[in-house]
Amino acid sequence: MEKIIVIGAGIGGLASAYFLGKAGFNVEVFEKEKEENLAYDWHDDVAPDIFQRLSIPLPDKKFYFPKHDWSFVPPHSKYYVAVHSTGERDISIDRKELSRMLVELAKPYAKINFGTAVQSLIIKDGSVAGVKVEGNKKSASLVIDSSGALSPFRKSLPDSFMIEKEPRPDEVFYAYRGFYERLKDIEVKEHTHKVYLRHLGEKGISWCRRDSADQADILIGRVDKLEKSVIDNALNELKKDNPDVGEKVVKAGRICVIPVRYPLLKMVGDGYAAIGDAAFMTIPMLGSGIASSLLAGFLLADTVIKGGTKVDNLWNYQVRFFHEAGAKHMGVDVLKRWMLKAESQDIKFLFERKVISQTDMERAGSGNLVKMPFKELLKKVAAGYSRLGLLLRLKKVIKNMQKAVECGLEIPQTYDMEAIKLWQSRVKKFYE
Ligand SMILES: Cc1cc2nc3c(=O)[nH]c(=O)nc-3n(C[C@H](O)[C@H](O)[C@H](O)COP(=O)(O)OP(=O)(O)OC[C@H]3O[C@@H](n4cnc5c(N)ncnc54)[C@H](O)[C@@H]3O)c2cc1C
Repeated sequence: MEKIIVIGAGIGGLASAYFLGKAGFNVEVFEKEKEENLAYDWHDDVAPDIFQRLSIPLPDKKFYFPKHDWSFVPPHSKYYVAVHSTGERDISIDRKELSRMLVELAKPYAKINFGTAVQSLIIKDGSVAGVKVEGNKKSASLVIDSSGALSPFRKSLPDSFMIEKEPRPDEVFYAYRGFYERLKDIEVKEHTHKVYLRHLGEKGISWCRRDSADQADILIGRVDKLEKSVIDNALNELKKDNPDVGEKVVKAGRICVIPVRYPLLKMVGDGYAAIGDAAFMTIPMLGSGIASSLLAGFLLADTVIKGGTKVDNLWNYQVRFFHEAGAKHMGVDVLKRWMLKAESQDIKFLFERKVISQTDMERAGSGNLVKMPFKELLKKVAAGYSRLGLLLRLKKVIKNMQKAVECGLEIPQTYDMEAIKLWQSRVKKFYE
């Protein structure tokens, strides 16, 4: 059977290794971290239906709990938009346990080398032919790049692949996450999980969530870069607004990178496929990427199982991903960019007047389109005629979101480089 190499034991890498190995491919995973250091030491939210769809078991119940309702706070405001979980309740899952479970699933079918960093790709005659690891060359028919948002491998691909090498600085979110002791004598009864949009008017979000009685989970995320002074200032302000958050750091904070943009417009080349954060598969509004990485792991494996590792077949993986999730992410990215660029006073106005509602935030946060007919828009904000200019701008943004989704769905169905080039340039126009 053909050899397939996976770089990185992230969610997408492990899922594809499991499905491909199970189908009989000779799969080898290289992960630079030791097994015990894999993944984050915290809980993250995910919709559980993806596990059912892929017939992957959920970890034991003790490793997850129902996701709490979030309250969105507009910039410089005391107003809250509470977002309730809809349908089947999302869960907050222990990331270490999720990774451990995926490793256990994949292990019988794939060789997983922990503590082994891939150094570079081997490029031969314009195709990816394998990887270099610890000075040795390892050949493969397909290399799956699951090495994260700033993949150095994507960067080293030949230009002829037409794969974007790097995200623009404002398409990446730098997030500090730390856990702080909660002061026992201060009770918090409502809005226990707050997301501060454009916190302090800056380009990004912060959150304070309380999943446990003794710890507050703090996140400070900004696009482009995150200076220490920005973290310190935001932390101070969060503590003022959440007086139960104490000084003591329970779990050391770390800074992570999350892509917050539309997916890569070309995820595959000869001998190469990007997946997960390396293919920018996160939902641009909040940076959720677990479900789409799992989905992509399945789609990539299924595509290869059905049609092999040649690039014209690999393209079907990307087409399927865009139809299931990528096109919607493109729409959400239009809204996200506008929210980052708009004046904080305008954002505040739209939330306080309920022009942007709880349902809109639910939809955008879960990667879906915001639907707001203009008549309804005007009805929602009777006093908003004074801000007609703002409403018209918002109307345009919403129309652009729909157009972006339509454009995403018009992805060429076959691997035709000219058609792909044309489609890429049409897509990019939405984000110039
Ligand atoms: C603070 C934060 C909060 C988040 N919250 C959520 C959430 O609530 N819900 C949600 O769905 N998503 C969330 N995400 C996003 C989610 O973590 C990612 O989208 C998801 O993990 C997909 O990652 P991946 O499969 O691309 O692999 P990653 O998790 O990025 O893993 C990449 C792996 O590649 C390895 N690697 C890198 N370079 C090499 C190399 N040279 N050789 C070998 N191995 C290498 C790394 O060590 C790592 O293990 C959050 C992310 C962060 C940072």
